[in-house]
Amino acid sequence: MKIAAYSVASAEKPYFEQWMKENNVEVKLIDQPLSIDNLDEAAGCIGVCLQQAAKLGDESFYQRFAEMGLKYIGVRTAGIDLVDLASCRKYNIKVTNVPAYSPRAIAEMGLTQALALLRKLGEYQQTMAEGKFSLNPSLISNEIYNLTVGLVGLGHIGGETARLYRALGANVIAYNRSHKMEYESVVEYTDLQTVIEKSDIISLHTPLTPQTKNMIGAKQLTAMKKNAILINMSRGGLVDTAALINALQNHEIAGAGLDTLADEAKFFRRDLPIDQVPADYRTLAAMPNVIVTPHVAFYTTTAVENMVKIGLDNIYHQEEN
Ligand code: NAD
Repeated sequence: MKIAAYSVASAEKPYFEQWMKENNVEVKLIDQPLSIDNLDEAAGCIGVCLQQAAKLGDESFYQRFAEMGLKYIGVRTAGIDLVDLASCRKYNIKVTNVPAYSPRAIAEMGLTQALALLRKLGEYQQTMAEGKFSLNPSLISNEIYNLTVGLVGLGHIGGETARLYRALGANVIAYNRSHKMEYESVVEYTDLQTVIEKSDIISLHTPLTPQTKNMIGAKQLTAMKKNAILINMSRGGLVDTAALINALQNHEIAGAGLDTLADEAKFFRRDLPIDQVPADYRTLAAMPNVIVTPHVAFYTTTAVENMVKIGLDNIYHQEEN
């Protein structure tokens, strides 16, 4: 049995090698993302293990895939938007994903950014660089157990986030489209408007869907508390970026922590001269009360190990059964 893994990053290689040894299965490690141009590299394999944003191709890609005797597409991330499921059905290709490789990784990044913003670390870095070391009344902070944290979306990541804030003594409220019993001990369920109006920290954890696209726009930002911190660890499209910049510039909210941006596909995962990076990113990144990270909340050793191992297990166990 042989599997081809594409877009293999150096941080993943040790986990691929460990898995091969433990399971006595060969995995061909390919640096590039999968496309019709390098599909032949998977010749002789039972399936492919992927993590990439780029779509695989039109129907002819899947036809060729099946003709080569390939049977499985094992995506080693949660999202499977890159795969055309209708074509997979037509050519009897089985698709798997890794829905939760480490929700805690993303929850911890959201908490880290919220605490850094709450304690105004960006503003301190800026004022200290100017030689200002005296107590500044505008930089006084609050303590987390005095605050209300509002979560939008209470799934794997929202649930872990709720547990972390609750452990720190915060009052945690949440809006989710369904009521989940497992989080009843850590959150008080409420509606979206209450989360927006009552929270000192608002943390977004729904997927991006037609219903959630731009769910935080000018109206919602205006309704937030002046001291509110918005955290988006989910998908950039949940927030109207122009409205967010406006709200920050007009001091309608206190800060924002963003691991995702609506136009991130243009520049995240690449190295570019800074003047070629979109202007909205540069505006946000220049604000001391904003933290932007390049969609790396998942990027911990635990998560990378789980993505590789569960991604490969999904293919291997289907073939074994
Ligand atoms: P999940 O499916 O476990 O949870 C999503 C929750 O959102 C569910 O409880 C669902 O009921 C709720 N929901 C969906 N639509 C809603 C709506 N319209 N209104 C209210 N609630 C709604 O997903 P998860 O594993 O917690 O991941 C959440 C999101 O985090 C993913 O969709 C992805 O976009 C993002 N993510 C980001 C990173 C990163 O590195 N920054 C990594 C993984 C996932």
